[in-house]
Amino acid sequence: MFEIGRLSEKDKQFIWHPYTHINSTPAAIPIVKGEKAILYDEKGNKYIDGISSWWVNIHGHGNKYIARKIYEQAKKLEQVIFTAFTHEPAVELAEKLLSVLPGDFSKIFYTDDGSTATEVAIKLSLQYWKNVGDNKRKKVLAFHNSYHGDTFGAMSVSERGVYTAAFQDKLFDVIFIDTPDGENVESLKAEVEKYKNEFACFIYEPLLQGAEGMKMYNADGLNSLLVYLKNEKIICIADEVLTGFYRTGKFFAGDYLETKADIICLSKALTGGTMALGVTACTQQIYDEFVSDDKTKTLFHGHSFTANPLACVAAIASFELIQKKGFIKGVENVISHHEKFGAKLRKLEKKKYIKNVRQIGTIIAFEICTADQDDYLNKVSQSFSPFCLRKGVYLRAMGNTIYIMPPYCITSRELKKIYSVVVDFIEYHLKENAV
Ligand SMILES: *Cc1c(COP(=O)(O)O)cnc(C)c1O
Repeated sequence: MFEIGRLSEKDKQFIWHPYTHINSTPAAIPIVKGEKAILYDEKGNKYIDGISSWWVNIHGHGNKYIARKIYEQAKKLEQVIFTAFTHEPAVELAEKLLSVLPGDFSKIFYTDDGSTATEVAIKLSLQYWKNVGDNKRKKVLAFHNSYHGDTFGAMSVSERGVYTAAFQDKLFDVIFIDTPDGENVESLKAEVEKYKNEFACFIYEPLLQGAEGMKMYNADGLNSLLVYLKNEKIICIADEVLTGFYRTGKFFAGDYLETKADIICLSKALTGGTMALGVTACTQQIYDEFVSDDKTKTLFHGHSFTANPLACVAAIASFELIQKKGFIKGVENVISHHEKFGAKLRKLEKKKYIKNVRQIGTIIAFEICTADQDDYLNKVSQSFSPFCLRKGVYLRAMGNTIYIMPPYCITSRELKKIYSVVVDFIEYHLKENAV
């Protein structure tokens, strides 16, 4: 055990944190325990986890059922190379996922996280057309404001901005179009039409663009765009890394859409948010083009920990919890509380303190009105987290975008506490910035 405060110091000495501006971020807080929606630090302070530990946790922390399954599996088989070998957790999970995924999927490819899941989806699509023998289809289509991960392929298909600026000249070309707003679908189709026989694939975050600011967009518009793209044989890749597992109120965001993807990517809540695991699922038609006596048609991709048995059993356990009776109640509780809070926020929106109040399922978001630009470097994010932490809530803004995305086991009381801290911050921000 370290003395109180020592861990933070050593952390600063030895560790580099993700997405963290070194000079403006206070020392990391040592967390020693998690229980449902609550995190405990080394001093015994409690924080409500208002963003599900980076959008992954759905059943809460320290879930005993998932923990036991991981422990039991660890004693039997912790890891095995997934080329010549297979194991029950991988097969059971694949079968379970295929029975619920929104679409006609028939094969599961395991990866490590969201970025590698989308990376594989892109590689699959490009190689599919090569295997088919179509040398024209090499272009990739994506949405503006998209985010698909931090590896190079995933960055390439993501919005070019502050996250990718340092690597801009190393990213491959992608054609970006706007998200559907209900009126622009015909003009989006017209943009695609020019190169329609040259597109290999289209990658999209269905209904919710998370990392570029919790942007939400029109389902009918997306549906008609997908109808058109599929008709033009463009492979449609649904990146449900964030939207899967009831985040948007249904099992998958794809469940809101009539037209289904050809490839789907999962991660984040796949294991209930307990272990790193990614999945890329595809249709039989895509898979079949990799079945050949020609060895160059192999998908040359894999990770050391492909289909790690511990991660797979965690995902199966999470899946079982999802199918329990009480599960949906938790989701519905979050949704209905968010709706009530949304009505309150709309009053503040009328006063022009905040703007763009929006909700999809278990996520509610808005922007704080500031003199700065609405982007990731907006100064709101710097004061917001420390403010909330002081009041016992963990939230993290993206620029001036504030959002709440709790684990579904969160109690009504905890939710109300989060809402009151958010309202306090809006008032605090107003005062601080009053002229
Ligand atoms: C988080 C996220 C990713 C990247 O997942 P990692 O596990 O962080 O690599 C990809 N796509 C979407 C939509 C995401 O939200």
